Amino acid sequence: MTHRIDRTVAGIIGLATSIGTKLPGARTELLRRLHTIDGFPAGTDTPKVVAKSELTTVEAAAGQRIRLEGDLHWLDDELNAVVLVLVNLHRECDRIIGYRADGPGRCSALGRQGAIEWADPNCWNAPDRGPLCASCYQRERRWRQQRGLPTREFAA
Ligand SMILES: [Zn+2]
Repeated sequence: MTHRIDRTVAGIIGLATSIGTKLPGARTELLRRLHTIDGFPAGTDTPKVVAKSELTTVEAAAGQRIRLEGDLHWLDDELNAVVLVLVNLHRECDRIIGYRADGPGRCSALGRQGAIEWADPNCWNAPDRGPLCASCYQRERRWRQQRGLPTREFAA
């Protein structure tokens, strides 16, 4: 189960990375097409008899504009939906493992010396030694020992 989820997340990361370059390209193309409609001088057609079932040039351009703007909005909506789903996943996982009011909370190296070098900002372990989990505690301890800094002991 864990393995399948890991592969799924890796897939999401791959898709998100490639859409990061593809999406701007698609938006640029839609905007280019919209500008092409804008640049189309209305009424340049030589007056001619238009069959009733045909759209006039202006009507056709308006229809095209509506479709292109719809495509742009669709891209924005879908992107927002992806963000919303990820935010919801984060919130729910936080609720389950990180921030239970009656639970142990989450390992946090916030404000600790050298944390940028030894801490893991994605560590979701429960704290075991003070505010840190056992493995983060050991990494901090080794980091401090390498620098000749005093190490702290936490009451378990
Ligand atoms: Zn930790």
